[in-house]
Amino acid sequence: MTMRDVAYNLPFFYGSISRSEADEYLKLGGLSDGLFLLRLCLRNLGGYVLSVVFDLKPHHYPIERQLNGTYAISGGKSHCGPEELCAYYARDADGLCCVLLKPCLRPSGIEPKPGVFDSIREHMLREYARQTWNLEGESLESAIISQAPQLQKLIASTAHEKMAWYHGLIQREEAERRLFSGAQPDGKYLLRQRKEAGAYALSMLYGKSAYHYRIDLDKSGKFAIPDGSKCDTLWQLVEYLKLKSDGVIHVLREVCNNPSQPAEPARPPSLPPNRLSAISLACNPDGYTPEPIGGRRILPMDAESYVSPYSDPEELKDKTLYLKRECLLIDEVELGSGNFGCVKKGVYRMRKKQIDVAIKVLKNDNEKSLKDELMKEAEFMQKLDNPYIVRMIGVCQAEHLMLVMEMASGGPLNKFLSSKKDQLTIENVVELLHQVSIGMKYLEENHFVHRDLAARNVLLVNQHYAKISDFGLSKAIGADDSYYKARTAGKWPVKWYAPECINFRKFSSKADVWSFGITMWEALTYGQKPYKKMKGPEVVSFIEQGGRLERPAECPDEMYELMKKCWIYKCEDRPGFEEVENSMRIYHHHITQKVSTDDKVSENT
Ligand code: AMP
Repeated sequence: MTMRDVAYNLPFFYGSISRSEADEYLKLGGLSDGLFLLRLCLRNLGGYVLSVVFDLKPHHYPIERQLNGTYAISGGKSHCGPEELCAYYARDADGLCCVLLKPCLRPSGIEPKPGVFDSIREHMLREYARQTWNLEGESLESAIISQAPQLQKLIASTAHEKMAWYHGLIQREEAERRLFSGAQPDGKYLLRQRKEAGAYALSMLYGKSAYHYRIDLDKSGKFAIPDGSKCDTLWQLVEYLKLKSDGVIHVLREVCNNPSQPAEPARPPSLPPNRLSAISLACNPDGYTPEPIGGRRILPMDAESYVSPYSDPEELKDKTLYLKRECLLIDEVELGSGNFGCVKKGVYRMRKKQIDVAIKVLKNDNEKSLKDELMKEAEFMQKLDNPYIVRMIGVCQAEHLMLVMEMASGGPLNKFLSSKKDQLTIENVVELLHQVSIGMKYLEENHFVHRDLAARNVLLVNQHYAKISDFGLSKAIGADDSYYKARTAGKWPVKWYAPECINFRKFSSKADVWSFGITMWEALTYGQKPYKKMKGPEVVSFIEQGGRLERPAECPDEMYELMKKCWIYKCEDRPGFEEVENSMRIYHHHITQKVSTDDKVSENT
């Protein structure tokens, strides 16, 4: 998985170059009015700088990525990406020194310069997910796919721990001893931690003397030398001070290596484990976790149910479809109900651990058809093992027939969203929908059709972790078939069904894609009912006539475009989940890249 900058393909994007390098390129380009280039901002994660020539001089405008994922030059209009922003200023100067007239193209053979963090990010992401959550194989891959943006933020803020210039908690005297050992060039430097929480110091040599500068963390979470420029992370501050002696006596030149920092590729930064459990505990029973201030927020992988209950081979030894009644503790609390009976809360004791479970209890064991249905659902679920799908633990035949599943205590997505409308961002909703698309891609790859995908059947483990549930209508598609054909029409969720399901009883993954589009609409309206006042047959003729659900009020363009693709009439022309998941992933990453930037600073490099 390679995460490229969204601007990577722009021919006038230079990546992580300094202001003076930008000036050089613009000089080479002829310094004509309106000549411009785009580069990465060295101090703000996810930000850029637009460099424009006017009156033979380059002018530099920092572009910040804002909390809602849009980009803006301080005081200017917001745009959905750096490319769109440049296109806008090519039409209208709107406060800039002049309109953008001519892109200063990268010389051939020169690629955008990677930032320091780019080269170690991927390795760190993988190692971090592997070690912190003990993940391997499929689970590791899906963790990285769905959580890359959040993990990146987390890792960016601890990446300095892996740098050779970082010496950890040492005293000023020890710092001086290390600086004065060996050669003593101007600009030899190291960074150390101070005793006070969140405080650091930069120590450096100049003219054979040692200088020490405090680095403080301000209220908005940015690092700065007193009176110096602010940076999102410590490693960015160091990169910045290598280019400009802003507030310090000399630019940083030579690393004073930490003797205990191994010269091997970056290891993952470590979070104290107790911080994780504190966060898990802070999660309310309804799955809602207020975002911790300054701390790290809970990720799906922190949930016990992220890892398969059977990932430990010991637990697999005596795994059968049927569970022993004495291992099952049933609570009186009802989580929900359906026409089969009710769903209760419980605990299931495995060989080595206990897990929270939800138990579907059949109310009338004498009704054979219901019993058959529940058994079919169980047999189907037994084949599934994916972090974004509710796992079945087994079936228990005791006082009633019971289907035991892992617990998703946040309940159905539609209810959750309508009750938390004011607290949940679009970014959060997109994150959950992306997870649903990962789970659906898994079903598609395994030739299963869900046939009842809807927001009511997406359950939440917590605010940032969704799982697909309710496999009562699901089917496996035969090896030689591309769809399942229902013998008769039944009690169907018509508003979620594609035209070929209604007209020909044909169910393929493409039909599930249609339902995914409706689920997206439900989620992005924060739990509204689709086609509100219409009855089933009215919806069918509305669709036949080319009608589609309207764009939800707060829905980003990209998400409505994807919904409309999911509702392409002919299933052959509709995308599959591979494409849908890819679009969701790109958009999810796009809107979550930036560490919060609530205080805008102008770049004065
Ligand atoms: P179902 O008939 O499968 O849609 O289940 C009915 C209701 O029971 C759901 O809407 C949920 O509120 C609840 N429920 C079902 N499965 C679970 C689960 N695995 N964890 C938590 N609640 C569940």
